[in-house]
Amino acid sequence: LLEKRPDWSFDPEKAEEYLARRFGTATLKGFGFASQAPELAPAAILLEYLDDTAKAKSPHIRALLPYDASKFLALDEATRRNLELLRNLSTGSDKDSLVQVLDRTRTAGGYRRLRAWILQPLKDKAEIEARLDSVEHLYRNQLLLQEIRTRLASVLDTERLAARLAMDKAHAKDILALRDSLRASLSVLKVRGAESLPPYLGSAPSPEAALACEEAVARIGATIADEPSILLTEGNLIRSGVDADLDALRGLKENATKVLEAYLEDEKRASGIQNLRIRYNKIIGYYLEVSKGKIEAVPSHFIRRQSLVTGERYTTDRLADLESEINGATEKIIEIERRLFLAHRESLKEFLGAIEEMAQALARMDGIAGFAQAAMEGGFCRPVIEEEPRLAIRQGRHPVVEACLPSGSFVPNDLDLGGSAPSFALVTGPNMAGKSTVLRQTALICLMAHMGSFVPAQEARIGLVDKIFCRVGAQDNLAKGESTFLVEMHETAHILNTATPRSLVVMDEVGRGTGTLDGVSIAWAVSEYLLDRIACRCLFATHYHELTSLNHEGLKNLSMAVLENEGDIVFLKKLQ
Ligand code: ADP
Repeated sequence: LLEKRPDWSFDPEKAEEYLARRFGTATLKGFGFASQAPELAPAAILLEYLDDTAKAKSPHIRALLPYDASKFLALDEATRRNLELLRNLSTGSDKDSLVQVLDRTRTAGGYRRLRAWILQPLKDKAEIEARLDSVEHLYRNQLLLQEIRTRLASVLDTERLAARLAMDKAHAKDILALRDSLRASLSVLKVRGAESLPPYLGSAPSPEAALACEEAVARIGATIADEPSILLTEGNLIRSGVDADLDALRGLKENATKVLEAYLEDEKRASGIQNLRIRYNKIIGYYLEVSKGKIEAVPSHFIRRQSLVTGERYTTDRLADLESEINGATEKIIEIERRLFLAHRESLKEFLGAIEEMAQALARMDGIAGFAQAAMEGGFCRPVIEEEPRLAIRQGRHPVVEACLPSGSFVPNDLDLGGSAPSFALVTGPNMAGKSTVLRQTALICLMAHMGSFVPAQEARIGLVDKIFCRVGAQDNLAKGESTFLVEMHETAHILNTATPRSLVVMDEVGRGTGTLDGVSIAWAVSEYLLDRIACRCLFATHYHELTSLNHEGLKNLSMAVLENEGDIVFLKKLQ
């Protein structure tokens, strides 16, 4: 569903005013935005849209953060798709994607964090090392890791519950869930112990926020009933001991029931009708039921309300009085509980900041613990991050392809790009030889290292990268028409125009979508341009053997080993 907005709604001045009003600030400088920054109009429209669709304000959204392209490694849409980061190329589900294979998180927040980390790998060495240090700490402290993961399993989607609270949508069970989630979060913090911990494990949330969360837990526990109703119209929301009026009315109601029972005994005795009962239905309220055989014995003060085949239903003045007493109490109880609940919910909003901080901290811990667990299960190693633009990978593996194959059957590969080795590798080999796999695994190892994750290799030295590009040549030109080839060429042009000497470019069979001569020419020209004008680290796979005669000092020829044995061909999947 696409909803279009008129272009005048993107007025930068109005947007700025709206945002400043909304966040209660004079300008947006504090959030890091220059006056009339181009992000502000879309941000304002997005927030308005959220409020509109949710039919509520979203006070839990308390700040805007500029997306700082200089902080994150650039991955364009095609690269995300081709590397199958969140979705596979064949069905579009998350099956056999990087996120699915890496995911060992235990909470919804942790999983969201993991996805964000995959899509926004870091650029700064110190920041990457901070994540790696945290992962390594847990990797080396298995007991701590397991204890944290066990306790994380009881943490719910705190962020979402906090959003419901902020938007006045939380019912009593949500609030209890929030309490349970906060309590579990606090228990995760406790296992960290007193030792000094690396950044992602030790620094957040602040002690004040943790204390506020404890207070929220206590306040909710002292207020909300154990098995509360999810409606406001049924009572059963508030504990006894919270409000004196409420307790008094509940006592009255309970007492009235006792009085009702005593009254029934009196009438039984007086009339001698032993099976006389008091019942209740929504239409006539409380009534006395007399079976057919005992109608004779009905005393004169019984007033008939209903006749049934099996008997008659009566009321009495006394019963009517008792009923209105009970109903009055019930109504009042519901009203008081409703009022107390709404006030309680409102009062919890003072903790929203602390709750959000706790949720963020736990999501990050979960993300780190997930990396440590994945590293352990997958036999990953800690990459060495370097400034020098090179890649040196020993026994690298493709995390997803390896996970799909029987254990031990994946063939690891070494690769050196840059440093003393040429930075451009031309990879040739027949179809099914393993070219795509080795190309993508290199890009994924590089990406995972920038996420601060361990990588599927025995050893990896990763020189910092500013952008990763991954392109796959158009497959089936005939079936899809000329346009896929055109798209391929547009995308190739985009890479040639934006790649820098710090980038990693992975090109798989570019130029395949056209005739052989054109294809060779395109592949040749693109290779030369990358070599001469950009000089970045590059893996270029092609089945055009002509390219091996390119003879450039920045290029090395690699091929996938193939064994011919008595007419059989065996793909060894070994890069040589
Ligand atoms: P190409 O790009 O040369 O056509 P692919 O990379 O698509 O070849 O690999 C073909 C198949 O071989 C893949 O489906 C994968 O399952 C398997 N394969 C690729 N590389 C390896 C490897 N290193 N070890 C084991 N199997 C591999």
